[in-house]
Amino acid sequence: MTIKTRFAPSPTGYLHVGGARTALFSWLYARKHGGKFVLRIEDTDLERSTQDSVNAILEGMTWLGLEYDEGPFYQTHRFERYNEVIGLLLDKGLAYRCSCSKERLTGLREQQMANKEKPRYDGHCRDRDINPDEPHVIRFRNPLDGDVEIGDLIRGRVVVANSELDDLVIRRTDGSPTYNLTVVVDDHDMGITHVIRGDDHLNNTPRQINMLNALDWDVPHYAHVPMILGDDGARLSKRHGAVSVMQYLKDGFLPEALLNYLVRLGWSHGDQELFSLDEMIRLFDLDAVNRAPSTFNTEKLRWLNQQYLKSADPDRVAHLLSSHLGDLGIDPTEGPELTAVIEAQRERATTLIELAEISAFYYREFDRFDEKAAKKAFKAGAAEALQVVSEKLAALAIWDRETIHAVIETTVKELGVGFGKVAMPLRTAVTGGAPSPDLDLTVFLVGKEATLRRIGRAIAHIGGN
Ligand code: GLU
Repeated sequence: MTIKTRFAPSPTGYLHVGGARTALFSWLYARKHGGKFVLRIEDTDLERSTQDSVNAILEGMTWLGLEYDEGPFYQTHRFERYNEVIGLLLDKGLAYRCSCSKERLTGLREQQMANKEKPRYDGHCRDRDINPDEPHVIRFRNPLDGDVEIGDLIRGRVVVANSELDDLVIRRTDGSPTYNLTVVVDDHDMGITHVIRGDDHLNNTPRQINMLNALDWDVPHYAHVPMILGDDGARLSKRHGAVSVMQYLKDGFLPEALLNYLVRLGWSHGDQELFSLDEMIRLFDLDAVNRAPSTFNTEKLRWLNQQYLKSADPDRVAHLLSSHLGDLGIDPTEGPELTAVIEAQRERATTLIELAEISAFYYREFDRFDEKAAKKAFKAGAAEALQVVSEKLAALAIWDRETIHAVIETTVKELGVGFGKVAMPLRTAVTGGAPSPDLDLTVFLVGKEATLRRIGRAIAHIGGN
């Protein structure tokens, strides 16, 4: 049997973190088993579905590399098929027309609530013969007795009594099919073997199973993924920060870091934190998905991003970093080799934005000295040390790390002071106080001309000019 999973978003917003995780789990499961992954756009809610949202979902999936093997299928293109199945259910007596008025249904509901009963349709039209020309909905004839059993691959056995379910509307008065009907038809027609989705759909599953059984169609396996909470314990939402996947691109995250973060959101493999894509595919399994909700932790995502930034191909990082430098008004072709700067700086940044910020000083004058750094570095003797080192650097015919290092060493010796007395003022003079790597490397990358100019600026600053 070929395993087939699907991601079935409703295009009513961007691709959010929860949706992306569901998509990732479905994608991984298909990849792991050499199966297929289907993308289905559930756009039957015409009021809320937008093309922009479809585009945002496709864009998010592309950025994360969650390529699909089939689709995107649009439910709005499949109304004919849904109506065909509704007709079939009607013909077999598995569904019926219902002309109950809004008033009747509201009254029923109020009465049930007053009696502390669960509001549900009472089957009033079950055995009535409604004229098809009258306005009506179509309801599925849910079995009255027995239980529905779900062998959920994450939650285990879930049993729901049919007496808890009512006769669900499968076609509205305007002729449009409802969610549960379209999902049942699509999961069947598309040959879906494993439905992996958020546990907010768990209450729909018994209804869908009943319809599949009524139609004599195979029931897929189900896996309901627990929800994601914000750090305050509430369901993850906009107020917890970025929830749109594409926001993470803008915020300077690498897609592989977000994927790694998402896979660990509810799934674990021992205490391993870093997973390459191949490892994820090999090791992922549904039975290791946690049954309890998971909590979104931005700090951990930043840590992961830093790990991936440290090991990513410098040319690729350079490519990605260029636009963030551009946002700061920096043209990286005017200055040191960007890949060299990246290798020097990247372990100090958690995002590409931070990396751009702490690398800016290699390419342009900083606005001002960081106050704290300046206070620490520009103490008594600093101006003299800077003067001496500046003269020696100015005299250099060769500009490389070794010669720069030697100049610092000789200055220290000549002045008979500790290394820090020269190194600290020099570092602050050339960086302004930004995080930086080994001093000789920093000075080398900043370049001779800018180094000398900045030393002059620091001396003037110390002198109070
Ligand atoms: N369209 C549904 C949603 O976005 C998902 C339906 C399903 O996975 O069955 O929540």
